[in-house]
Amino acid sequence: MTSDFLYNRIHLLTGNKLNIDPSDPPISIPQKYYLLLGNKQKKQVFLSEVVNAVHSILSRKEEYGDATLDKWGRFDHDKSFLVQNGLDQSPIIDELILYILNQLDLKTRSIWPEGKKFAVCLTHDVDAIDGLSYLWLRRMNWYWRWVSARLGNNQQEADKWISTLKKWVQFRKLNFDPMDSFDQIQELEDSHGFRSTFFFMSLCHGLSREGRRYSVKNPRVAEVSKKLLEGGWEIGLHADYHDPLSLSSLKKQRQRLEDVIQKEISGCRHHYLRVRFPDSWEIYAQAGFNYSSNMGWGSGFQGFRAGTCLPYQPIREHSLLEVPFQLMDTNPIADIESYMNMFNQYLELTKSVGGCLVLDFHQEHFREEAASGVGKVYKNILDTIARDQDVVVLTMNEVCKTMKQIGKLA
Ligand SMILES: [Zn+2]
Repeated sequence: MTSDFLYNRIHLLTGNKLNIDPSDPPISIPQKYYLLLGNKQKKQVFLSEVVNAVHSILSRKEEYGDATLDKWGRFDHDKSFLVQNGLDQSPIIDELILYILNQLDLKTRSIWPEGKKFAVCLTHDVDAIDGLSYLWLRRMNWYWRWVSARLGNNQQEADKWISTLKKWVQFRKLNFDPMDSFDQIQELEDSHGFRSTFFFMSLCHGLSREGRRYSVKNPRVAEVSKKLLEGGWEIGLHADYHDPLSLSSLKKQRQRLEDVIQKEISGCRHHYLRVRFPDSWEIYAQAGFNYSSNMGWGSGFQGFRAGTCLPYQPIREHSLLEVPFQLMDTNPIADIESYMNMFNQYLELTKSVGGCLVLDFHQEHFREEAASGVGKVYKNILDTIARDQDVVVLTMNEVCKTMKQIGKLA
């Protein structure tokens, strides 16, 4: 593993290589960084201590080996140092680095295209491509939940499941599928001139131990991916939940999806974000991916998992980039106003450090009938971004290309 995180970041932001002299005088730091630097009282630090702190957080050292996992086999959100210390709601590592650069009188440069201050990258995990296939199975599931709720005397819950069941019976009759919203998302994004990245699963069967998903051979995958690619959208792999650390499985999934879409796939995000660092990075690099976008939280948690909203190279030996993401949809989004407040806050924080805010909104949640509030929030988000003169909207590959180019310019 590399200990070059701080040096690489300074190189990216300033175009200069920084040499640290151990005899350099210590730097005064504001109180908000004390904990990050391992001391509640510390007013001054040596640069070497900053190097270590940045390395520890960006490498995700605390997630290695026998770290505590949640019930999905992922690093437990609540065990994160940044979360436990209330430091996860801002790009604190980026802020610290900018503060240090300022103290060292080093000027930062514009890294984003068109001289924009910061970037936004829109992404969509595709956990489902429709809601009507295997509807009998879904109906059985809802029915079972309805019975369980009735038996548990939970009338509200029971009402919810019976109304879901009735609703979908109606959708079937009308042949209306609210979980297929590729066209609507494309239309909305195109109305602003935005392009995004869709992460598709690549399973052999629609029904498997992964649950009710979709086969990569489903003609709808070929159909929508053709339309997406022709219009300038991108496709990445949404790798399956089981065997997340199997290199051969990952390679097969990539190949299967590439065969269908007839295009090379350069990035991967795991379903359920079921990754383990650093092993997943190693496997991604060996499977030939250029980027991973897994550095965020699932299950309704939001924030800056590695304290950053800038892509970085997590392993010295590989050029693989991690493109962290910060914000995911939930199903439903009940309180639109508070979600938008959070988005606006993340947007401002990302702008203040010149980073890249990455959003993940599921394809199948877009329509109101499928996931209440999600489509409305997504539309509000795009309207907000479209009004901001300082932002450039990039796809995942464009973000990676920008990082590579700026590295060469340095
Ligand atoms: Zn997923």
